[in-house]
Amino acid sequence: MLYGIISDIHANQEALEECLKRLKGKVDKIICLGDIIGYGPNPNECCEMIRELNIPSIAGNHEKAVLGELELTWFNQNARSALHWTQKELSEDNKNFIYQLPNALVYEKFQIVHGSLINPIEEYMDSLNVAIPSFEKMAKNLLLVGHTHMPIFFTRKTDGNYDGGAITGDENIYLGEYDRVIVNVGSVGQPRDGDPRAAYGILNDEKAEISVHRISYDIAKTQEKMRNALLPDSLIERLSLGN
Ligand code: ZN
Repeated sequence: MLYGIISDIHANQEALEECLKRLKGKVDKIICLGDIIGYGPNPNECCEMIRELNIPSIAGNHEKAVLGELELTWFNQNARSALHWTQKELSEDNKNFIYQLPNALVYEKFQIVHGSLINPIEEYMDSLNVAIPSFEKMAKNLLLVGHTHMPIFFTRKTDGNYDGGAITGDENIYLGEYDRVIVNVGSVGQPRDGDPRAAYGILNDEKAEISVHRISYDIAKTQEKMRNALLPDSLIERLSLGN
């Protein structure tokens, strides 16, 4: 089966539309790893696109924050003001949708969580040291995570050796040669690896192969909407920089 993997959309409608255009009709199912909202100018539209396509999603830290389940003090000033704006903007219907999102999901051959298996909502899996405790808790051979907005993978071989590294540009990872693999396909709506293009993944669970793809979208249009919504300047600028 072919799965489209999207994560960290962050209310960026243009980036989400572009990714969905590539995935619809090409994959059997699309799955979302959380942070549909926060930072960007279109939280309602992004929730509605996910809901209309019946895309199973888990909660990220921004969903928890907007519901008041995670302290806003957890976030820096700019993220916090965008979250206040999002709280006011979101329809009741979309708040109810966000409220029912689970913290993790397990599929036949893989499982998904926003942060890590140690702390599903808050932990940034940005190094092998942070990843190792999650390897021990995996119920499947493959774990997909989001949250850091950095395409990266970590592996464990049957001899107990760990490895991993950043995924730059379009890349394929062959899962078969490893005992366990953790992959982050990057962020749809706010990439932070220096490449401003939207990121998504395609998982072929039969071939045990996952590919990461980068695509351009209309960044200027998203930025214009953010300016009109009076969202913080640094959040607007970082979209062009991909940081
Ligand atoms: Zn995020």
